[in-house]
Amino acid sequence: MIIIMNPAARPESIKAVEDAIRSLGLRPFLNPGVERKVIAVLGEMGLRKADLVERFSIMPDVDRVELISELWKLASRTYHPEDSVIDVCGVKIGGPEVVVMAGPCSVESEEQTIGVARAVKAAGAKMLRGGAFKPRTSPYSFQGLGEEGLRILARAREETGLPIVTEVMDPHEVDLVEQYADVLQIGARNMQNYSLLKRVGSSGRAVLLKRGMGSKVKDLLMSAEYILSEGNHSVILCERGITTFEDSTRNTTDINAIPVLKNWTHLPVVLDPSHSTGDWKLVPAVARAGVASGADGLMIEVHNDPQHALSDGMQSLHPDRFAELMESLRAVASAVGRSI
Ligand code: PEP
Ligand code: MN
Repeated sequence: MIIIMNPAARPESIKAVEDAIRSLGLRPFLNPGVERKVIAVLGEMGLRKADLVERFSIMPDVDRVELISELWKLASRTYHPEDSVIDVCGVKIGGPEVVVMAGPCSVESEEQTIGVARAVKAAGAKMLRGGAFKPRTSPYSFQGLGEEGLRILARAREETGLPIVTEVMDPHEVDLVEQYADVLQIGARNMQNYSLLKRVGSSGRAVLLKRGMGSKVKDLLMSAEYILSEGNHSVILCERGITTFEDSTRNTTDINAIPVLKNWTHLPVVLDPSHSTGDWKLVPAVARAGVASGADGLMIEVHNDPQHALSDGMQSLHPDRFAELMESLRAVASAVGRSI
């Protein structure tokens, strides 16, 4: 349920509505948008719903009360019709510019990370990605450099000015990772780790939430709702491919998810064509498809020596090929009224 206040609603009327919601054992949630004051009512309402609509409708300065039919409330366009634009150290995601985040799958060394960071920046990337805590299918595979990896990322940021996106896998590691990261990445395997979602929901850092490989778009939005309902409004969604019967690629890029999400939610949507294809040769075509279909950003793996990468070398672009890709992405972006 959302309570839409009159444009000139007085602060005391807003407070009265919030108090009334709390007195009923529910939670008020004030839309941070400035266009109109909208208060979401969160919690189990059951059969009281119709009575509550009537009760709130007659309060001072209330324009109208609407029910949100979607299960995701704060993530829905009904609650927040305007696109959310998330500002990460001055880089705006969700606005007219398509933001490219690029870098190695794993942080392997200072030389590698800074080298790649410089190259992707020169080609036009606006953020640096790189994993220090790696969710690997095998416990015997490289698990990431941990805190040393985070320190290397921070040095790369100092060198290039690029904000950092890096994964956090465990609620107990959020305190550490948020000291270094500008954006906390929740990996596909953790999309439904609700303790982790709640913990990053109380972080001051933006969150990039990846879709689980076996999860529906609806489930992705419910996971985003966990983060939003803890008070963190800076959530970026990421389509990274799903598991299907098709085995010609590592995952299947669900390109439909991009326009579906743009219809259902105000949150920015990013495509990761590296994980969705698993093959560097396919990354450029799918990246262009992402921009053409309305993605607000791309996350792309780039490695200086893909053949010897400690993770995901097969899907990593060499910096030269990444630079070529950026050129072609600019043409696609301008064809759909965006820029890169
Ligand atoms: C990654 O970004 O390197 C990664 C592990 O991604 P995903 O969670 O999408 O597999
Ligand atoms: Mn990877």
